[in-house]
Amino acid sequence: MERVVRAACPHDCPDTCAMLVEVDGDGRATSVAGNPDQPVTAGFLCGKVSNYLDRVYAGDRVLHPLVRDGSGELQRASWDDALDRVADGLRAAIDEHGGESILPYSYAGTQGLIQGNLMSARVMNALGASDLERTICATAGMTGVGATHGISPEVDPELWPLARYVVLWGWNPMSTAPHLWRLVLEARRAGAKLVVIDPFRSRTARVADEHLTPLPGTDAALALGMMRAVVDAGLQDDEWCRAHTSGYDGLLERLGDYPVDRCADICGVEAEAIERVGREFATTEPALVRLGVGAQRHSGAPVAYRTVACLPALTGAWRHPGGGCSYIPTATAAAISEEPLQRADLRTGEVRRINMSQVGDALTDPSLDPPVKALVCWNSNPAQVAPDQGKVLAGLRREDLFTVVLEQFMTDTALHADVVLPATTQLEHLDLIFSWGHHWFTLSEPAIEPLGEARPNTEAFRMIAARLGLDDPCFSESDEQLLEALVGDGRSGVTLDELRSQGFAKVDLGQGDAPHAEGGFSTADGKLSLDTAWLADAGIDPLPHYDPPAEFSDEALAKRFPLAMVTPKTHLFLNSTFANQERQHGAQPEPYVVVHPVDAEERSLADGARARVFNDRGSFVCRAQVSDDARAGVVVAPMGWWSGDYEGGVGAQATTSQRLTVVGAAPTFNDNRVEVEPA
Ligand code: SF4
Repeated sequence: MERVVRAACPHDCPDTCAMLVEVDGDGRATSVAGNPDQPVTAGFLCGKVSNYLDRVYAGDRVLHPLVRDGSGELQRASWDDALDRVADGLRAAIDEHGGESILPYSYAGTQGLIQGNLMSARVMNALGASDLERTICATAGMTGVGATHGISPEVDPELWPLARYVVLWGWNPMSTAPHLWRLVLEARRAGAKLVVIDPFRSRTARVADEHLTPLPGTDAALALGMMRAVVDAGLQDDEWCRAHTSGYDGLLERLGDYPVDRCADICGVEAEAIERVGREFATTEPALVRLGVGAQRHSGAPVAYRTVACLPALTGAWRHPGGGCSYIPTATAAAISEEPLQRADLRTGEVRRINMSQVGDALTDPSLDPPVKALVCWNSNPAQVAPDQGKVLAGLRREDLFTVVLEQFMTDTALHADVVLPATTQLEHLDLIFSWGHHWFTLSEPAIEPLGEARPNTEAFRMIAARLGLDDPCFSESDEQLLEALVGDGRSGVTLDELRSQGFAKVDLGQGDAPHAEGGFSTADGKLSLDTAWLADAGIDPLPHYDPPAEFSDEALAKRFPLAMVTPKTHLFLNSTFANQERQHGAQPEPYVVVHPVDAEERSLADGARARVFNDRGSFVCRAQVSDDARAGVVVAPMGWWSGDYEGGVGAQATTSQRLTVVGAAPTFNDNRVEVEPA
């Protein structure tokens, strides 16, 4: 008899779709679809996930443990043997160099609160492993936006259709968030003007009413120019700013340093366009800025995001339902958190932190004390997504590094493992998924039994704990118990009953339709901070300003590497996830770099020719796509393909830097100077 199970998409995407899975009488899933009752999902899944059964039932799934044998080959092994090997490898590292010589590595390959980093965190804490600073994605922007308006539910995306002026800043939702994009389209159908800000003509930019193309890392200058244009025209909302912001006079004074022409020179956008868009934003109600993650991959990004977030404050946009600033609704996204359940108290002392964007250095720096001797990796593929790929791969190839990878497929990282443990897909385990794009939590019930010998991450770490003799009762808690502990007493407005009966539940923090119309920010004084004291404490100018990107502004470097490179996501891969699936890969068969015709001509680079992209860190070869979709001086190399798709086995990350942002400890993938030549 056929049954329908409620699940959720676990992938690193703000839409967090509610899924319906049909399962036949033999226990085999026969279809997946978007849940039509979920207001954001609206009954459809994206092109990455709509064929999810191809992933679940793929012939190349890892369905049995693999252990590297004496000849250096990975061979099928029993769970018992694999766990023995894991325990031996971790114990050897601890005995020789202490717990900190173990480095856990995970991110949002599965962003569920149960299968993400819960039982795994307990095990790592109990072993005294190094603490991984998990900041590879949105932390720069969160730090900057948080410095301005604090932890906030921001503008509920379900209210975006009310907006009549929408600025999508560094965001290509048509490819990366199609359900949130639908809500933008609703606003547009009702008459909203859509402005996209992106150095690249993305799919979203292509259909916008207006597309502004600032040079990478100059977004703060663009925002300052818009604000200056607003003030020059007397369009600022004095009343709202005096009542609900702190540092207003400081901002007005600071804007004196940023005439529109100066900002135009910095960011490479016409002064006329800066003035016009700024003033249209100030005079249209409701007006919304939605920041994406794309504009934050440079050293000054926290300041840039904070500066952009000041624009809607200056114009009083928060007054109106549907107006204000959206980035990541930190208040609702964190309303249920796994952090209290990760049991940091299991550590016996302080441990060092290693930033996940600097894993290349962590694995290769001979002065690191203690050295990293064991790497335990799940929900991530650092061989392909971490910056400075040459160093990451050199580290993974170390003979003396013991590597354990929990995976569904033989990723480029898994290929370097000593032990591979087969991981379940979303249909085979229980999870609760938060959203970093909307206000809903979504329950994912197991629809089918685990395939082969695959196990949920929680179960694998429970078994590792048992093998290592960790006997705290917390290591025996079931996924159901973890779920109950997560949801707790329903203070977030989310209850287990609602999750179980409906599959999803909305966070209710009393945010209402216009959460900051009357201020109510979670800052120390309840006001939006135009002048943020803690930034000054961190040695950063506390007022909005332009903080230049490190490499892009390096004139000496520009002589050798004259092009700025950005590495956006593709339409059908999610970082490196899905790049091994036949349909998605068939539609995006090979990596490419987009080069403006002027830059291509100067380098005798023909459309379709093989191009070598290089700098001092490394190089990669791919197909050149000559197009003015990239602006002159900027090349665009989308990321996600696996090593086998690149001549030489390395891609765009071979050139990216391990440098971190000024605060927020975030990566700087798009703060990258390169040169391109025919290969
Ligand atoms: S990747 Fe995003 S849009 Fe696609 S199904 Fe998952 S949550 Fe929805």
